[in-house]
Amino acid sequence: MAFDYDVIIIGSGPGGYATALRTSDLGLKTAVIEMKDVVGGTCLNRGCIPTKAYLTAAHTLHDAHRANNWGIDISVNSVDMSALKQAKDKTVSGVVKGLSQLMKARKIDIIHGQGSLIAPHRVSVCDGEDSREFSANHVVLATGSYATELEGFEFLHADAQTVREAIADKKVPILSSDEALDIDIMPENVVIVGSGTIAVEFANFWNSLGVNVTILLRKDTVLSRWDSHISSVVMRTLKRQGINFEFHSKILSAESGDVTFSVTSEKDGAVVQKTIPADFVLCAIGRSPRTDFDWYKNAGIKLDAHGFVVTDDYGRTSLDNVWALGDITGGHLLAHEAFEQALTVSESIAGIPTRIVDTHTIPEVVFGIIDAVSIGYTKNQAEALDYIEVEETVVPQLSNPRVAMMGSNGTTVIVSAVDPHTNTRIVIGIHMAGPSASELAGAAREIIQNRIPLHDAANALFAHPTISETLGESLLKADGRPLNL
Ligand code: FAD
Repeated sequence: MAFDYDVIIIGSGPGGYATALRTSDLGLKTAVIEMKDVVGGTCLNRGCIPTKAYLTAAHTLHDAHRANNWGIDISVNSVDMSALKQAKDKTVSGVVKGLSQLMKARKIDIIHGQGSLIAPHRVSVCDGEDSREFSANHVVLATGSYATELEGFEFLHADAQTVREAIADKKVPILSSDEALDIDIMPENVVIVGSGTIAVEFANFWNSLGVNVTILLRKDTVLSRWDSHISSVVMRTLKRQGINFEFHSKILSAESGDVTFSVTSEKDGAVVQKTIPADFVLCAIGRSPRTDFDWYKNAGIKLDAHGFVVTDDYGRTSLDNVWALGDITGGHLLAHEAFEQALTVSESIAGIPTRIVDTHTIPEVVFGIIDAVSIGYTKNQAEALDYIEVEETVVPQLSNPRVAMMGSNGTTVIVSAVDPHTNTRIVIGIHMAGPSASELAGAAREIIQNRIPLHDAANALFAHPTISETLGESLLKADGRPLNL
């Protein structure tokens, strides 16, 4: 049977576009369906890239404030939020343009409109009144995710002008990260509900601009599932930067320029109510898979209880020749996880040998004035899983000269255990908080994923003086051979 395409991909985010780039390189005729005007999905347009553009500005401000330490007389007089947003938008459009050119150069067809899987090998695309159908041997679903709404607090999904008016009218709108990235006003007071990556990254950004930031969180720390040494370094740093925390709290209302919330005492369960001023609330409590289109159900694609697509290790769904990857498949909901899945799915479709995605070693990364990275198991998790002779080495980054020059701090945690197959000690977890820690995530992941013996990993050479030595020194310490510690 002749098909219009070998592969049709629904969604052009990291999962979709990376699959298209690889399948086209493998000689497969590929089309990508995208319902927005631009390619790149959440990551390029409303996620990774714009937030990191803003955090680049935050770093610049941070450095400017510390310039006096080096005898440099700089004062930051003002921040023009409208110009800052324009610079962010320019960064985004540059990256999106680059991607469009890559796709064009590989002769990938980009079809704009809402895609639906309507029958085996058949996809329809609706663009307003216009509806077209295409056939493909393989269909890849990469429809992504959206911000989860807090019950009783509806998002104001609106353009920047409408959001600005709601703020001016003291309506204290509830924003998702999409709207928060779209507004160009300098707020005075922001309340963030949530304690994960997105909450921490936005807190870093607004705090660097001098905005009064309060984080409302259910638990007593941000990144509560993380290694506790790392989450406490992140907490300490955020507090030192001046970010306010209300632990064990629950938002009750957002109106008339204020947010009211309850705080439950951990000691005796007593509940008090507090009210603080707020221009708006950023609700960052998680993300939900965009699998709520009727066609997912009608086509019979198997979803789990949370709406994530169930796949095998190679990305196959419950339907023949239908594949899924990226945020809709759960896991860490990160772009680099989607990239890795894209290689596996594309190569499986092409019928060439490939490796399965090792979800367990996907680095979780939080960016900020200091970054935080978590890969593999924490000590508690490893012990619960009956790993043998679990050891944890906690190394504060006090003696690294580059960290000291930056006036920064950090901690590295190495978790190791004895591999019963080889009877050697291997690294099963690396957790880091510190300046530019995100740059070390790839090296750390290779050590864990390849089950490199701790002794060999510790022999790796890192240039001196670099921040990367924090990882090298920590591995040496875990191997009982500390050098500069
Ligand atoms: P998406 O990027 O969401 O793309 C899905 C695409 O499919 C969208 O373009 C959508 O319009 C389209 N689509 C959906 N349904 C249809 C349909 N029926 N027809 C046609 N098109 C459709 N990850 C990182 O690794 N690093 C970071 O620093 C990072 N920062 C982030 C910051 C924020 C604020 C957010 C929200 C996320 C961040 N992420 C980060 C996560 C990252 O953005 C996602 O993991 C990644 O975008 C997932 O890729 P995806 O292809 O699965 O989905």
